[in-house]
Amino acid sequence: MIYPIVKFGNPVLEKPAEPVTVFDVELKKLVEDMFESMYEAKGVGLAAPQIGKSMRLAVIDVTFKEDPDAKLVLVNPQVIHTEGKFRQTEGCLSIPEFREPVTRAKKVTIRAQDLNGQWFEKTGEDLLARAFLHETDHLNGKLYISHISALKRDLIKRRIRKLIKAGEW
Ligand SMILES: [Zn+2]
Repeated sequence: MIYPIVKFGNPVLEKPAEPVTVFDVELKKLVEDMFESMYEAKGVGLAAPQIGKSMRLAVIDVTFKEDPDAKLVLVNPQVIHTEGKFRQTEGCLSIPEFREPVTRAKKVTIRAQDLNGQWFEKTGEDLLARAFLHETDHLNGKLYISHISALKRDLIKRRIRKLIKAGEW
């Protein structure tokens, strides 16, 4: 099933998500649907609040289907180590049409549970590090625009409000 992506303005995107405590078939099905929804939206990462579910759950595939081993499921992820700096243009499926350069850590280690509830650690660099931080932010109710200047953020918000008014958001 393909879920529509929730856009900026929906409160679910700006509140901390609830921990996942049940690791059952339903969770596996939800994760499959999240990958499908992410690919359909041409994204490389998707957090559960972006489909309207306040759950600490995210999927990532920075290779966009090229490498099946690159498909990552993060349940209840936490960032446990960051290193260096890396500035790159970033976007978000929930804030379509806008992109801004964001400085983030170059190397990031996360600790998360898999679909069976097993804890694991994984370190990523560059785009993967960025995805770890971007998706973990989502689960904390934080969007990438919180990392850009207040001036740029207000400009984006103003343009979005106009789009909402025009019924184009
Ligand atoms: Zn996002």
